[in-house]
Amino acid sequence: MKSGYVALIGRPNVGKSTLLNHLVGQKISITSRRPQTTRHRILGIKTTEAGQAIYVDTPGLHGNQKRAMNRYMNRTAKTALVGVDIVLWVTDRVTWHHYDEIILQLLEKIQIPVILVINKIDSLQDKTAMLPFLKDADQRFPFSGIVPVSALLGDKLDDLESNIMELLPDGGMFYPEDQITDKPERFLAAEIVREKLTRRLAKELPYQMSVEIERFDEEKSLVKINALIWVERDTQKSIVIGKKGCVLKAVGQQAREDLEGLLGKKVYLELWVKVKKGWSDSEKALKNLGYE
Ligand code: GDP
Ligand code: MG
Repeated sequence: MKSGYVALIGRPNVGKSTLLNHLVGQKISITSRRPQTTRHRILGIKTTEAGQAIYVDTPGLHGNQKRAMNRYMNRTAKTALVGVDIVLWVTDRVTWHHYDEIILQLLEKIQIPVILVINKIDSLQDKTAMLPFLKDADQRFPFSGIVPVSALLGDKLDDLESNIMELLPDGGMFYPEDQITDKPERFLAAEIVREKLTRRLAKELPYQMSVEIERFDEEKSLVKINALIWVERDTQKSIVIGKKGCVLKAVGQQAREDLEGLLGKKVYLELWVKVKKGWSDSEKALKNLGYE
């Protein structure tokens, strides 16, 4: 059998979380049209007869940005590569970006097999447009594979998976075969609430919120969840609540539906909005909220 760790790296918004969800076959990592959605390192586990691939969804790699949240993400992106067996470098364009040079420098240092995944080929009208890029990529770096895919449509993911299996080292399973993630359900609950908020308030609230699960009580046929939504300012609080509570109500309803699907039980979800001033600037506040 083969087994090992596979890290997904790449610019924000190229489709890493979408790819992870489709590879594992279940919604594990939240996705959105807005960059920086993924803040945590998340494992998705896929076990087949051929072996076990454990996927690590890293936060996006960023340039030099000052805020604490960005420092946190940069750190995670680097530490997430330690001990992995394969790197999937996901891109969604067929031209080079100055940002790619930074990634190439990083990849040269780590000496781990790298598969270049060109995502979103469904939106490429003329497929021959990627040919010069494929040739150029091959010359720039000794990739262990270059695979064009559509994560969203699940197109060519078989090719990608067999490429991954070939590269994984021989070894036994790290996790039981029916386990698909290492994250407790409590964490997934916070991620789902945050996803609904992010989708709804993309324009109004740039990155300044966080969700903390205050209570997660599983009963026989019901799960009671209380979630705190932390924002930085009173004005943001009223945006999250909405007119007559309409935003919070819609977010709560959507999150509850997803949670009921995930947990297979009825969910009673209560949302509270609280103000914590300047939390995204302070490392200490980040730690308090569980971003370590
Ligand atoms: P991440 O930041 O790299 O994790 O990116 P996400 O997985 O959150 O995806 C960002 C956006 O790209 C979302 O709106 C996805 O629906 C979209 N997306 C992801 N994969 C594909 C794809 O294969 N084709 C198209 N057309 N869109 C995609
Ligand atoms: Mg993501």
